Amino acid sequence: MTRIIDGKALALRIEAEVAREAAALDSMGAAPVLASVQAGRTPAAEIYMRHQARAAERTGIAYRRIELPAEISERQLLRELERIAQDPQVTGLLLQTPLPPHLSARAVRRALDPLKDVEGVHPANLGWLLSDRPGLVPCTAAAALECILSTGVDLRGKEAVVVGHSETVGKPIALLLMERLATVSVCHHATVNLQEHVRRAEILVVAAGQPGLVRGADLREGAIVVDVGINEIERDGKRVVVGDVDAGTENRAAWITPVPGGVGPVTVALLLRNTVRAAARQVQAG
Ligand code: NAD
Repeated sequence: MTRIIDGKALALRIEAEVAREAAALDSMGAAPVLASVQAGRTPAAEIYMRHQARAAERTGIAYRRIELPAEISERQLLRELERIAQDPQVTGLLLQTPLPPHLSARAVRRALDPLKDVEGVHPANLGWLLSDRPGLVPCTAAAALECILSTGVDLRGKEAVVVGHSETVGKPIALLLMERLATVSVCHHATVNLQEHVRRAEILVVAAGQPGLVRGADLREGAIVVDVGINEIERDGKRVVVGDVDAGTENRAAWITPVPGGVGPVTVALLLRNTVRAAARQVQAG
């Protein structure tokens, strides 16, 4: 029987710890403040921000929403981000994605202040993942790892397969699994015979943004499956959110994350954990 990895329950446990750390910082006069910047509005970003704002409220972290016009030029956006990052009250900053098509997410990520980059997507934070002293760890990748570890598995020597090789999700997940001594394969859109790789996976993380990419019958018996994908599709005339894994009745996994309610809430909780960590480091740095 397949067991569900309950992301909401896991997120609440992380949030309780974050709330204690936020209160401790507050009592030192160093309350964390998270600025959430958006360029234009998308329905998906509205949903993410609602979840972020509620989780911030639960943990006692101030959440400032900064709306910029969708037509903003890259230069203006970079200037705005610099201005916000220089505000000494703002201890963490995140930029909602997707960005309007004329803006380059890579260029904008490079311009973030790595000390306030709570999503862990600045090249410096990604680079620190290769060392034994990680900085602000990319939160979706860290959330996938938390979901896996919550099953109690020891990753040492396990056959792990990551589907998706983006800079901010797939690659950092692969590094985190490798750090725990799993044997990691990374698949992407040019991978030949994806199913063969999936069938080998004791640990499978799918982050491709392709609904139904992996089916229950493709899974290895007893696998731990983390579905990072968030896709909106039409089903029976309704818009619904699904992941990349369509496990169905032939599901062979021992554990699986649901979508919604799996990796998503844990990602938000870890965004807030990064927010308190960033604030604490800024206090230490004076
Ligand atoms: P991306 O578009 O940057 O990367 C997609 C990756 O999937 C690429 O590496 C691509 O090569 C691979 N891919 C695409 N089609 C494939 C195929 N047919 N076979 C194998 N590989 C294929 O996306 P991303 O930013 O890495 O996000 C991936 C998914 O995760 C999206 O659905 C996104 O919405 C979701 N996401 C979820 C969270 C969360 O908190 N749960 C956070 C970030 C992203």
